Amino acid sequence: MAGLTPVADALAKVLEGAGPLPEEWVSIGDADGRVLSRALVSRRTQPPSDMSSMDGYAVRAADLPATLPVAGEAAAGRPFAGSMTGGTAIRIFTGAGIPDGADAVVIQEDVSRSGGMVTFRDRPAPGQFIRRKGLDFTEGAPALAAGMRLEPRRLALAAAMNHAAVPVHRRPRVAILSTGDELVEPGTEPGPGQIVSSNALALAAIVRREGGEATLLGIVPDRLDATLAAVRHSRAEGHDILVTSGGASVGEHDLMRQVIAEEGAEPSFWKIAMRPGKPLMMANLSGLRLLGLPGNPVASFVCATLFLGPLLRRLAGRNDILPIEESAALGIGLAANDHRQDYLRATLTDTNGKLVATPFPVQDSSMIRVLAEAEALIVRAPHASAAQAGEPCRIIRLAR
Ligand code: AMP
Ligand code: MG
Repeated sequence: MAGLTPVADALAKVLEGAGPLPEEWVSIGDADGRVLSRALVSRRTQPPSDMSSMDGYAVRAADLPATLPVAGEAAAGRPFAGSMTGGTAIRIFTGAGIPDGADAVVIQEDVSRSGGMVTFRDRPAPGQFIRRKGLDFTEGAPALAAGMRLEPRRLALAAAMNHAAVPVHRRPRVAILSTGDELVEPGTEPGPGQIVSSNALALAAIVRREGGEATLLGIVPDRLDATLAAVRHSRAEGHDILVTSGGASVGEHDLMRQVIAEEGAEPSFWKIAMRPGKPLMMANLSGLRLLGLPGNPVASFVCATLFLGPLLRRLAGRNDILPIEESAALGIGLAANDHRQDYLRATLTDTNGKLVATPFPVQDSSMIRVLAEAEALIVRAPHASAAQAGEPCRIIRLAR
């Protein structure tokens, strides 16, 4: 249908002009979830010298088999002082430096010890049970790339490379505003015709999971003065993004258009060829990106997944910003699709190692319970032809 913007084009416009936020340094202890602004180069070599990977005896392979005197001991952090002379063995433990002169480790299970003497039955291959210096990483070598998000394993690596502080991008500061005369905050008794606002909490949680700082601005009624005041507050606070939810009806759109015009900017609205999802609104208020999401809870969530998520990751400096699509098999047959890209709420099952995605029978974009129960979105391209159960489909997994 003419006039509907494809999802990819709308995303490109949402991301237009958006780049990683400035760099700051944070202590490694506070860096969980932060995104590296430059590659981290190792400050040391690991292991720092050849080390034993087992408990046993350090030997010269060429001396064996033999019964040898134990001439000393090497433990982790307590190296054997001096050089090993030929015809001796050194008691050694995991993580201990290999004494000079030794070229193999024999595990303790394979020897018999009697007082100060130890008997080796076989000749080991040189290098046996030795971790070579630099096996893991070497000083000066880049080990973590710019744009990587620090998570437990990468934090461990950064710490092992002896970085006490790391360069990261500033977190996106995101304000969230709910618009609608019908909304009340959770925990409040709704009046006649009112409902409890739920979008803002989901959006704030998404923002935090993407490494942003979320500020809830509460609910404003569908009035120009109230909406304008909230936008001005957000600008004054220096937020990077203001996400609004609601206001997708025609009159309310005019309201948002007015608000943006009052702020001296050009509003851009797209009717996006997707379902769920109504018009998406984007405006750049010199520094503050205003992203207007539809009010329907499922549309709000799916649009946040497709547009807000990538924008947050781009600002946060991530090098992977698009939602990951995987393939699965359809659990049931589907009719041919119309001109809109569908995001069907679905469950996932593992049938003999094969991932099967089954859409819920009712896909109403107001149904928060179905959204909460869903494990994935099935992505159906515009004009996809009818598909039978078992045919392949693309999915986006929803975080558990
Ligand atoms: P709108 O986009 O304002 O036309 O809203 C579409 C639908 O979503 C209406 O049924 C609204 O009541 C509902 N809605 C709007 N905002 C929220 C919200 N923050 N939480 C839950 N439902 C909402
Ligand atoms: Mg509304």
